[in-house]
Amino acid sequence: MDTDELLMRTAEIARAYNRDVGSRRVGASATADDLRRTLGGPLPDTGVEPMTVIDEFARGAEPGLTATSGPRFFGFVIGGSLPAALAAEWLATTWDQNCGIHVCSPAAAVVEEIVSGWLLDLLDLPRTSSVGFVTGGQMANFTCLAAARHEVLRRAGWSVEDDGLGDAPAVRVVTSTEAHTTVFAALSMLGLGRRRAVQVATDAQGRMRPDALAEALAGYDGPTIVSAQAGNVNTGAVDPLQEIAEIAHDHGAWLHVDGAFGLWGRASAQRRDQVVGAEFADSWAVDAHKWLNVPYDSGLAIVAHPDAHRAAMTVIASYLVEAGASVREPHWWVPESSRRGRGFAIYAALRSLGQDGVAALVDRCCDHAARIAMRLGQEPDITVLNDIVLNQALVQFTPRGGGDADAFTQAVIDRVQADGTCYLSGAVWHDMKVMRISVSNWSTTEADMDRLADAILRAIELEDAARSAP
Ligand SMILES: *Cc1c(COP(=O)(O)O)cnc(C)c1O
Repeated sequence: MDTDELLMRTAEIARAYNRDVGSRRVGASATADDLRRTLGGPLPDTGVEPMTVIDEFARGAEPGLTATSGPRFFGFVIGGSLPAALAAEWLATTWDQNCGIHVCSPAAAVVEEIVSGWLLDLLDLPRTSSVGFVTGGQMANFTCLAAARHEVLRRAGWSVEDDGLGDAPAVRVVTSTEAHTTVFAALSMLGLGRRRAVQVATDAQGRMRPDALAEALAGYDGPTIVSAQAGNVNTGAVDPLQEIAEIAHDHGAWLHVDGAFGLWGRASAQRRDQVVGAEFADSWAVDAHKWLNVPYDSGLAIVAHPDAHRAAMTVIASYLVEAGASVREPHWWVPESSRRGRGFAIYAALRSLGQDGVAALVDRCCDHAARIAMRLGQEPDITVLNDIVLNQALVQFTPRGGGDADAFTQAVIDRVQADGTCYLSGAVWHDMKVMRISVSNWSTTEADMDRLADAILRAIELEDAARSAP
């Protein structure tokens, strides 16, 4: 078997997918059972030719893929893959570096160092912050909140890494009712307790109310962590971070910001005002695989206090040789030991776009979101529920003759998904069933947005007709 031939064939399959991803059906067409049938069965006793494995695997998996890297996937908050990032990811896989320690891959370690500097400039965060290259927003929240837990307990004279939480001073966590579910997951994994977090009230856009935060913090100055948000997953709204930072720091609290997608708004001169004040926080979770359009999986845990960050993540083992005082060891900043080179694709993405390119990507997505909200908002049966501050639009539909908007909205979402030209997801927001439109892909054009609007209007018409049919 010739590895070179195999890689050529694989590149062809990948290129064909990439060429068609903008025109194929966006949602998957295969059911789980279909996929079990084509890909499953018992593990064969004897091996199969690699070329056959890849050919059959690619053919079998294809109907079960969703075109998330294409221009008309508007569900959740999902970015595509910039060409340079995708290509760098191919190299990263081929190089197969263990990027935990510098000596295993000086290139990976130094690239992470370079990328860290670029990111802190781009996002305008304190330049002395440390950056950990993790799998996504979930692990970024976990890592940042671990650093927070370390620091607030260290100030209370307690080493949580050595002595655990059993007899530790109580740590109070304050977040909002609209915090992302991964913040609560991080709290549960950190032993801080999902249910123990105080959830302060939010305003109509889902922003934490500073007066409610001040009230929650009043009269207690023990170890405290405040977790705020830049980019509400439904509305895109950003908590009033400057005010929140002042209140949190007045109480000696650590302020974490979950900015999985919203923090990228800081890369654009036009949107920076929407994410003002984030620079005063103590830690930030950001996803590269969302708005920066780097392939999965890629998140960033950024901490303004490198000592706390490193203390929370440190692994102690004699065989983990350190390359020396002048280098940054990649594993200091993340939960993993061995891992792949996440810095490579981010490096390629940032270098191929430049500062202007990242800003243009952010602005384009925001403009698309504003434009479709404007177009849909003109229709009598469509309500746009949020202020379009970033790349998210939240809409609700009412049946022509009046009636249950929740059921009708769900039916419209189902019809758009079945139509296949676009993909959207729903959510329940403030007790309403809503359609979420998230524009996060570098390759989405105005024409794609028009096709989305057409698909939605078509779905409404079909649903209205189905309901009025005798
Ligand atoms: C997407 C998202 C997360 C979780 O990120 P993953 O990359 O899915 O782990 C956390 N917070 C917010 C606000 C998000 O939008």
